[in-house]
Amino acid sequence: MNTQRKTRILIVEDESPIRTGLQDVFTYHGYAVDCAEDGPAGLRKAQGGAFDLILLDIMLPGMDGFEVCNRIREQDRHQPIIMLTAKTADKDIIQGLSLGADDYIAKPFSVTELVLRVKAVLRRSSIGRDESSLIVLGEDLEIDKRNLSGRDRNRKITFTRREMDILEYLDRNSDRPASREELLHRIWGYAKHLNIETRTVDIHIAKLRRKIEPAPAEPRYLVTVRGAGYRLIKG
Ligand code: CA
Repeated sequence: MNTQRKTRILIVEDESPIRTGLQDVFTYHGYAVDCAEDGPAGLRKAQGGAFDLILLDIMLPGMDGFEVCNRIREQDRHQPIIMLTAKTADKDIIQGLSLGADDYIAKPFSVTELVLRVKAVLRRSSIGRDESSLIVLGEDLEIDKRNLSGRDRNRKITFTRREMDILEYLDRNSDRPASREELLHRIWGYAKHLNIETRTVDIHIAKLRRKIEPAPAEPRYLVTVRGAGYRLIKG
């Protein structure tokens, strides 16, 4: 587990006093905070960075919080999200939660309560990760995400943080291939549509294959899906 890294929070809120207030509070509590002022900017930032949690207002210019939440979920269904709402109508709250927000808090809220809720959601999401801290590939290979290590029968394998991030991401999305652009975007944090050298991804994949594949030239687990990207086969 990487204890060096600060927990990253994205605040998507158009009302400037609330946004800066929240930014101050969470910065004070030791989080790394980024902000967006409208729906499209919030979505762009959410998709562009690995945030541990997103605080998402519902009434936003450009695109409302429900839509932003929905779009984030399409890409990453495990992204922790707390909705901020001025609306107290049950219908809206239920809609927000059914779209996959982890919690919601009604404005005006107490800062103390919000911080507690944030911690609770972060705790739940990290417990969720711990429960599945192992990636099991085939019959002989076990990868421990927390320790950046693996075991192939009795052979110990160690991974770099970046390699483990790639494995974790492919593991979380193992129902489909992930493109090089997506990996650059999600793992390296590069903005989409930049002309970034996708060979960076290939080099890392090649290194990973040498570590986990019985025959790296004919991958069994970390396969190339032609025209689509890479996929982790767990069977
Ligand atoms: Ca608002």
